[in-house]
Amino acid sequence: MPSLRGEIAVLATMHGKERAIAPLLSRFLGVHVVVPEAFDTDRFGTFSRDVARTGTPLETARAKIAAGFERVAEARLGLASEGSFGPHPVVPFLAWGSERVVLVDRASGLELVGQHEAPARHVVHAQVHHVEDARAFAARVGFPRQGVIVMGVADGQPSPAVALAKDAHDDESLLAAVRRALAVSGVASLETDMRAHRNPHRMRCIRRATLDLLRAWYSHCPACDRPGYVISARLPGRPCGGCGAPTGQVLADERRCAGCGLVERRLRNDGPADPAHCDACNP
Ligand SMILES: [Zn+2]
Ligand SMILES: [Zn+2]
Repeated sequence: MPSLRGEIAVLATMHGKERAIAPLLSRFLGVHVVVPEAFDTDRFGTFSRDVARTGTPLETARAKIAAGFERVAEARLGLASEGSFGPHPVVPFLAWGSERVVLVDRASGLELVGQHEAPARHVVHAQVHHVEDARAFAARVGFPRQGVIVMGVADGQPSPAVALAKDAHDDESLLAAVRRALAVSGVASLETDMRAHRNPHRMRCIRRATLDLLRAWYSHCPACDRPGYVISARLPGRPCGGCGAPTGQVLADERRCAGCGLVERRLRNDGPADPAHCDACNP
C-alpha cells in the first residue's frame, strides 16, 4: 500500500476550506496541507454570479489544482473542493447540493474524488422591499454566522451589476447594503452566502466529502493495488417480482480500476423488485 506520509498537499482555496479538510488528511494520511497566500479562486467562477462558472465542478476542481501546483512547486499532492447546487435531478422542488473534494498525486497520476450529496436547505433567496424584511431574513438564516449576500434587482432578477455586497458581518453593514440596493432598484435581493467560510452547513458537507475521499484512498484494486477502487456505476435491471422483466432498479454495482482497467460487477442480493417499479406489468 503506497504511503503519502510527510508529503505536502497544496489546497487551492481562499475560503477557509482547510478548516474542514486539513485536519482529516493530517490525521489519516500524514499529509501536510498548505494554502497559497492570496490565492484567487473567484476567477474560476463565483456563486454570486459576478463571475460566471464554466465547466463541470470536476473540471473546475482540476483547474484549481493545476493553479495550486503552479504556486507551490514542492507539493506532490493537489487538493480542491467544489460545490454545486440546484434542483434535485428527480424530486421536484427539492434543492440539492453536491460537494466534491478532489485529490491529485502528480507523482503517480492518481486522481481521487470524494463526494457528499444532501438536500440544500441552506440555499435561501428572497426579494425584499423593506429593511425590516431584510432583518427578518437575516435572523431566519442565522446571520452573521451564515453570511448573507445583498444584490440589486434588474428585470425581476438579482443583478450584481446593479448593487453587490458580499461581506457584511453585522446587522449595521448588512442593512446599510440593503438600503443602498433599495435606493437603486427599489427592491433588494438577499441570498445565503454559499462560500464555505460563510456557510457552516457547507463546511460540514466538505468534511463529509473529505471522509469519502479517505474511503476511496483505502479502497484498493485487488489486481494492481491502486487506490480509488470504489463503485463507479450502478447498473439497472433488477428483475420484477411480478413478471420477472428487468426494471430500472439497481441490479449490480460496478467497480472499474483507472490503473489496470479491471472491471468487477457485483450483484446486489436485494431480491426481486417491487412490481410498482415495473414498466411491463405496471406501466
Ligand atoms: Zn413486472
Ligand atoms: Zn487495478
